Amino acid sequence: MKKIFLLFFPAGAAAALCLWFFDNSTAPFGSFFADKIGLVMAFGRLAGIVAALGVMGQLLLISRAKWLEPLFGLDRLTRYHHLAGLIIPLALLAHPPLVVWHHAMQTGNTFLAQYLTVLRWEDILPAACGEFLIIVAVFLSLPFTRRRLSYEAWHTAHLGAYLGLALSIGHQLGLGGDMNAEFHYFAWTWYSLLSFTAANLLWYRLLRPLWLYKKHRFIVDRTVMESADVMSVYIKGDGLESFAVEPGQFALLRFWAPGFKLQAHPFSFSKAPDGKELRFSIKKLGDFTVKLHAELKPGTPVVIDGPHGVFTGAKMKTNKALFVAGGIGITPLRAIAEKFCAANGDSVLIFSNRSHRDIIFLSELGEKDKGGNCRTVYVLTEDKDWPGEKGRLDAASLLRLVPDLAERDTFLCGPPPMMAALRSGLAGLGVPKDQIHYEQFLL
Ligand SMILES: Cc1cc2nc3c(=O)[nH]c(=O)nc-3n(C[C@H](O)[C@H](O)[C@H](O)COP(=O)(O)OP(=O)(O)OC[C@H]3O[C@@H](n4cnc5c(N)ncnc54)[C@H](O)[C@@H]3O)c2cc1C
Repeated sequence: MKKIFLLFFPAGAAAALCLWFFDNSTAPFGSFFADKIGLVMAFGRLAGIVAALGVMGQLLLISRAKWLEPLFGLDRLTRYHHLAGLIIPLALLAHPPLVVWHHAMQTGNTFLAQYLTVLRWEDILPAACGEFLIIVAVFLSLPFTRRRLSYEAWHTAHLGAYLGLALSIGHQLGLGGDMNAEFHYFAWTWYSLLSFTAANLLWYRLLRPLWLYKKHRFIVDRTVMESADVMSVYIKGDGLESFAVEPGQFALLRFWAPGFKLQAHPFSFSKAPDGKELRFSIKKLGDFTVKLHAELKPGTPVVIDGPHGVFTGAKMKTNKALFVAGGIGITPLRAIAEKFCAANGDSVLIFSNRSHRDIIFLSELGEKDKGGNCRTVYVLTEDKDWPGEKGRLDAASLLRLVPDLAERDTFLCGPPPMMAALRSGLAGLGVPKDQIHYEQFLL
């Protein structure tokens, strides 16, 4: 079934492009090789088709579809979405001028006069507004503009792109030349692709989390402060033993209380699943998390979208593990290590923090490195009096602490600069790439 879903969109997109070629080189439009006017129109249509296919593909990439996400991981799919978002607008921008140019050549109007005429055609003005909204969303996602925006402002602009897409549907269905071709194969293909995209978005982004809530009735049971700025949220629910989570995964949490309902934020499960409760450990960082620390009450319902992610023990190539956590990056690693140690796996957890008071889960992990199969080594960067390991982690210090690291799978989660340095350092020490796994707290 998964394979059918995976093939559906590429096969549908390829069919649409073949049908474009057929429609534009034979009946009913005549050969687009015949003259310049036909050629311009054919490429105008092609730009429109490619842009719309691109936007549908983009929506599938961020649909959180269960047939797609486990193959790549949500973070990588989101990265593909960002990259493709820089290319697809080129087709979107090329479509109107090519089509207007074609009509201007036919009527003898100037380009501007023709453009204003076309704008008055049915469905064109909403489509033009839709295109504008999509281009604004793309512009605000470029690295130099994105850096200057809050997540919420950027996210709102992105929602504008959805509206933009909705505004363009009338034009796609009503005016799209290929849709009206004598043979209706193109229209059938297009309706199938649109329905497939809409169904995936609707189910995975909206209905599935609601269905999971209806089934499990997730509710905040209690909150526990782990340090001055990290709070664990324990969540109870019905039949949690059937809510399948792999340690290392994360979920998007929407707390159903005034002031929180409109935002879903990603957090890693910080405890291996036990069928009784779920735990997320949340660091105060910005507006949402600060407010959550201050206002979240036991009894608050939680809509959970997940689990997501492929940062799990299933990736292991060896039978020994090295976990390297920086600060709040401990959350997914704690869950993976918990399961791994329970199965008597050989692991070392290296947990870097600024100072002793920032270390979370101390009561679970133990104050000191107890040796044995499940070691924990604390490394502090800003505590001169700490008798244990001090300073920033690098590949050399990892090698000193874990001499057999090349025989282990390494799982990294922490601040991006730390992970980048360790990834390249480990590769420099000859650790095979497929033994280095990392999770970024970035979507
Ligand atoms: C896969 C993953 C797992 C994570 N696990 C944990 C965890 O276990 N514990 C923890 O404390 N934090 C975790 N985070 C980070 C957490 O999601 C952010 O710290 C939190 O959303 C910040 O929200 P804010 O409004 O308080 O801060 P802001 O200052 O508004 O945001 C800080 C950064 O967080 C990201 N962010 C903010 N809102 C969202 C959102 N709705 N969706 C996606 N990203 C967002 C953006 O990159 C933003 O720049 C995880 C993130 C990801 C992607």
